[in-house]
Amino acid sequence: GDSTLPLLAQASARRFPGRVAVSVDGDAVTHGELDADAAAIGGWLAERIEPGDRVLLRGPSSTGFVRCYLGILRAGGVVVPANPAATGAELAQLAGDSAAALALFADPGAAPPGVPVHAVHDVPRGGPLPVAPRDPDDVALLAYTSGTTGKPKGVPLTHRQLLTSIRAAMAAWRWSADDTLVHALPLFHQHGLGGVHASLIAGSTARLRSRFSPDAIVEAAHGATVLFAVPTMYERLLGAPGAAEVLGALRLCVCGSAPLSEQLANRLATGLGRLPLVRYGTTESGLDVSHPYGSARADTVGVPLPGVSLRLVNDEIQLRGPQVFAGYWNDPAATAEAFTEDGWFRTGDLGRIDEDSGHLVIRGRSKELIITGGMNVYPREVEAALERHPAVVEAAVAGLPHEHWGEQVTAWVVLRDTVPAEELIDHTRALLTPYKCPKAVLVVPELPRNQMGKIARSALDTPAGHALR
Ligand code: ATP
Repeated sequence: GDSTLPLLAQASARRFPGRVAVSVDGDAVTHGELDADAAAIGGWLAERIEPGDRVLLRGPSSTGFVRCYLGILRAGGVVVPANPAATGAELAQLAGDSAAALALFADPGAAPPGVPVHAVHDVPRGGPLPVAPRDPDDVALLAYTSGTTGKPKGVPLTHRQLLTSIRAAMAAWRWSADDTLVHALPLFHQHGLGGVHASLIAGSTARLRSRFSPDAIVEAAHGATVLFAVPTMYERLLGAPGAAEVLGALRLCVCGSAPLSEQLANRLATGLGRLPLVRYGTTESGLDVSHPYGSARADTVGVPLPGVSLRLVNDEIQLRGPQVFAGYWNDPAATAEAFTEDGWFRTGDLGRIDEDSGHLVIRGRSKELIITGGMNVYPREVEAALERHPAVVEAAVAGLPHEHWGEQVTAWVVLRDTVPAEELIDHTRALLTPYKCPKAVLVVPELPRNQMGKIARSALDTPAGHALR
């Protein structure tokens, strides 16, 4: 509807003033305190920034981070979340590209030169700023993509887009004011931030951990109701003492941001006694597809959330709806590429519809598609075949340039037992058409992953003289 995050947070504060809104590593702030503090931070900021000005916000998850987040929005500013792992050069690029007016950093010394900076935990307060009746179509967030497939692009998201997206998921997941969400996801990314939005909107509680460890999640999940995590986190929870019991008591475990492999899904079903509810989305389009509540399968990502239109064009997943962004920040060329002529967002993900269930299946990203001898090979299909071999812990598949075939299907594998490469290739021959089978297998100690658990294919080591696209 026609609302904004600060307005909804204020409504929650009025309904549940004494309830914890957010706690991080045990440090808690109630809805009432958070709203009052956002007003005070907003009061100070309003004398320094104009509505629409960009403010960089950087730090590990903390209640101070959330206070600043809401304070910036209260003052009409646009939050530009920065990854705490970003380098000085990346931060300078971010500050320049967003033309940030101000920076709030957990480590102010790391702020790029030329931008006034204050410490997240020590932002001055001013007279309380009432929530201004703002246009829900004002930009609230300038989120940068992680850049796994190119340079990071700024994604402006309005209040309406953010709210539409999370509210559709909340309805599907039966979110209520009584929920307690646990996660250890970074707040500079939509997956983790969406969890905070849900708590502000519903008046529920987000119990966060600033660093992921299986023990921290098991401890936090006691008495909670919902968990958000990425597949690699579920994997690490598998062996953790008490995990099966404590996760089994949650009403909902949500999984997304990276593919959940068939092998891992099977191990979770056995090891944790349940499968997480899979959902799919992108920074540009928010949360778009989810399994129905209570569903227990992981080979698909579910069905479009209410209000989301989805279509497949040449296997590409395209989306439309009030949750989809309008275009990249200062990048008309990227924007033109991202939308079809009739206005659909091109996700760059490839999919198909499962005939039996009508659910969407993600087949991978179009940029990762391997074309060998004119045939399309989906890396995930080859990875899944390799991961059926008992010696394979996990696999990544990509194309290396080849003079005859254009690209050669190549696999990187993490092994639990030593096996010859030929045996792994023979194993895939029993499962896949010959052109899909890897022609070379490289054994590596682990696969390179980003903070969201996505395989960073560009960081895979290649044999001398070869390079990945
Ligand atoms: P960049 O666009 O800069 O490369 P990124 O893709 O990491 O960065 P995000 O918006 O964080 O940016 O990620 C969205 C992508 O994550 C989707 O396009 C899809 O490839 C993948 N993804 C999200 N959820 C799922 C899921 N449940 N299963 C498989 N893939 C998923």
